[in-house]
Amino acid sequence: MLFGAMPGARAAEPGLAGRVIVIDPGHGGPDGGARGVGGILEKDITLPVSLELAQLLRQAGAIVYLTRTTDTDLATPEDRAAGRRHKGDLRERLRFTRSKDPDAFISIHCNAVPSPRWSGAQTIYMAGREPSKHLAEVIQDAFRSTLLPTERGADDMSTLFLLKRLDCPAVIAEVGFISNPVEAEHLAKPTYQRQVAFAIYCALLRYFGEPQPVRGALQRPSLSEVHV
Ligand SMILES: [Zn+2]
Repeated sequence: MLFGAMPGARAAEPGLAGRVIVIDPGHGGPDGGARGVGGILEKDITLPVSLELAQLLRQAGAIVYLTRTTDTDLATPEDRAAGRRHKGDLRERLRFTRSKDPDAFISIHCNAVPSPRWSGAQTIYMAGREPSKHLAEVIQDAFRSTLLPTERGADDMSTLFLLKRLDCPAVIAEVGFISNPVEAEHLAKPTYQRQVAFAIYCALLRYFGEPQPVRGALQRPSLSEVHV
């Protein structure tokens, strides 16, 4: 029990206490996700960022579930045998998330494109879903003010499997381009991974109506730790 909130109960007060939040570290196991500069894999960035974010949110009293906490995917042996590992993995992430009936869903990913020149963290939401759009914009603001420079805005898409099928505010956070040498180098470092997690945490605090982080409960990674 956290701050008097039972799992599944809805927080009546503004703030994170009692909020149910599902964090989805993209890819995992046989699915490395995108491969970036120096062979860095997307799955190896999404997990530590997600674990850090979960810890911050729990310290603030949120009820947090992760779709994975280790280097694995969610496909079943049957999915693999039938050659539908990717589809099965997404289906299980969806089933898990729906079963928690969350107040927010955050899926963590990295971008990668053939050209090394693109960079910047970016959020994506499902077109036409206002709460998701608002959450995406709040997270994008936090990215803009605390991470490596990004010219990007929250973007809408209508084809993404999970965002399309979830009713709660749902956002994909593409936390940077691992195809960009500078961003890849940062994203591989635990200090910058914590910075990314903290940006999303601050955005969720703001989204759920609490203006400032709880004093003393957190150690904000210092900007000087990040070599911009
Ligand atoms: Zn991805």
